[in-house]
Amino acid sequence: MRKPIIAGNWKMNKTVAEAKEFALAVKDNVPSKDVVDSVIGAPALDLAPLNCKLKDSDVQLAAQNCYWENAGAFTGETSPAALAALGVPYVIIGHSERREYFHETDEEINKKAKAIFANGMTPILCCGESLETYEAGKTAEWIEGQITADLADLSAEQVSSMVIAYEPIWAIGTGKSADANIADEICGVVRQTVAKLYGSEVADKVRIQYGGSVKPENIAEYMAKENVDGALVGGASLQADSFLALLDAVK
Ligand code: PEP
Repeated sequence: MRKPIIAGNWKMNKTVAEAKEFALAVKDNVPSKDVVDSVIGAPALDLAPLNCKLKDSDVQLAAQNCYWENAGAFTGETSPAALAALGVPYVIIGHSERREYFHETDEEINKKAKAIFANGMTPILCCGESLETYEAGKTAEWIEGQITADLADLSAEQVSSMVIAYEPIWAIGTGKSADANIADEICGVVRQTVAKLYGSEVADKVRIQYGGSVKPENIAEYMAKENVDGALVGGASLQADSFLALLDAVK
């Protein structure tokens, strides 16, 4: 049995004061982490204060990005070693906004995945196709290519423990969520790709999320699907009541 994982992605939203207010509202109201992993992907500046407020709660934190070196002359970057020292368990990598606006390549994303594991954290690796690729019927081959490149040289043990988020770019922030059957089919492609690279035991363990306009009203449709183990949620994770409603639909 794969434990569900619901992760909010706040993107570049919330001041420290707003993040603390959110933490207070959710900290005692999320399900036990024995049942569901409840994760907040917060901006780097918010992580330390959130960590203080959420200590001893079942809410876990994710960074939205990190660099692949632990320290040095890399102005403006976030150190994976510093995230690990803070006690952050997850790092989101390869989000389509980072791939598009910051020109992140699969090779760089792969280096980040290795650095995250080297520091004892877990990557939430995003993959997903553009509308053009979707309409051309080339989603499966696109996803297979991304996953194969992003996982290069990772061990079976590492891949079994990680999270992969399938996020069709055309569904992110658009209100046009993918049909749950399509989400299940493509999450299945992610799983088959992992099976091809690492075998069926690893593919059975890796947790796969769907992301793209998920909200409290539709999350149950996705969670009912065999290949969907959770959701990565942007807009609907920004309000405490909506974040809690997403978790309520899952537990
Ligand atoms: C995201 O940012 O990863 C995302 C899925 O956003 P939204 O839920 O707003 O579509």
